[in-house]
Amino acid sequence: MNDSLSKDELPLATITSEIRADLETLYASLEAEIAAANPRCEASGRCCRFKEYGHTLFLSQVEASLLLEPGLPEDAEVSDECCPYQVNRLCTARERRPLRCRIYFCDPAFQERQSELSERYLGKLKRLHEVWKRTWSYRPLRAFLDESVENSSQESKTNPLRVIRDLP
Ligand code: SF4
Repeated sequence: MNDSLSKDELPLATITSEIRADLETLYASLEAEIAAANPRCEASGRCCRFKEYGHTLFLSQVEASLLLEPGLPEDAEVSDECCPYQVNRLCTARERRPLRCRIYFCDPAFQERQSELSERYLGKLKRLHEVWKRTWSYRPLRAFLDESVENSSQESKTNPLRVIRDLP
């Protein structure tokens, strides 16, 4: 499959302003705890280069909706190699990046705290899904991207405004 997609080729994700507000509050609370712990980040971008680092980015349905909302960066590619939002080793989705991107640090001194935060905030994320009656679907980013492409392909059959490039 040619996985090269422009930002207009992903479907508009559905996330209400109320859910967005709750999710942003959750992220802000997490960021405050991480800032207090002050882990070291080498800004190497390795954690976003999945294959090289042996890393799979998991995220929830609601997080995926927020992350994918504006589509992908210009000329971004969907692959197992790297996150499509990393451009020139920088994240282009910092405000929308999911929980695991916020929690993950290479710093060995942060590992224990990282596990504790991960478990606790995953619990909060699950509750957010329950409150808003959203399916708890915690999957790799690639799965959500593939699903978006599939949905785009189907929508384009009935909605001429949602034109998607033919994928081989
Ligand atoms: S969303 Fe940003 S931080 Fe997360 S993997 Fe992608 S580029 Fe990296």
